[in-house]
Amino acid sequence: MEREAGSCPVGGGSLEGVGMTGEEPLERSPLVPDSKRYWCYRCKAHNEFDHLTWRTYRANSDDTYEKMSCVRCQSSMFNPARTKPVMVGLLGLTLVALIVGIVLGGDFVAPSLLFAAFSGLIGFMMLYYMNLWWSWSRRQRSKSAEQLEQEGRQYIVLIEKEQK
Ligand SMILES: [Zn+2]
Repeated sequence: MEREAGSCPVGGGSLEGVGMTGEEPLERSPLVPDSKRYWCYRCKAHNEFDHLTWRTYRANSDDTYEKMSCVRCQSSMFNPARTKPVMVGLLGLTLVALIVGIVLGGDFVAPSLLFAAFSGLIGFMMLYYMNLWWSWSRRQRSKSAEQLEQEGRQYIVLIEKEQK
């Protein structure tokens, strides 16, 4: 068994100098759609956000609320990848509640309709925001990588100016 000293090609130190050109690509451009990142529907961008949480102090309640507040416009941001299944679930429940109300009839109509109204309202609200997201991400994806890169840089400069 022989080991030559100093010849290891993957050892530390060999990566020095990478990314020192000053024109390194944006790693996380706010304008490149990524459904796993929080998105601001007003700014139409993956902005930075403040994670706000608060608790309700009602009896028997242990609910915590949270809000991803866009640093630029304070709008509530949402995560498309996480919102979608919730939206689908709510719209599904709405449909089931409607069907149950229609099939069972009688005393079941009022509560089923009430339930359907609630879940439907929230579901369609989510659908509205998801739609904004889908149309934006479709538009962004039709752009070239260079264009997105350039817009991302301009956007970051814009935000930095605003924050001064
Ligand atoms: Zn915003």
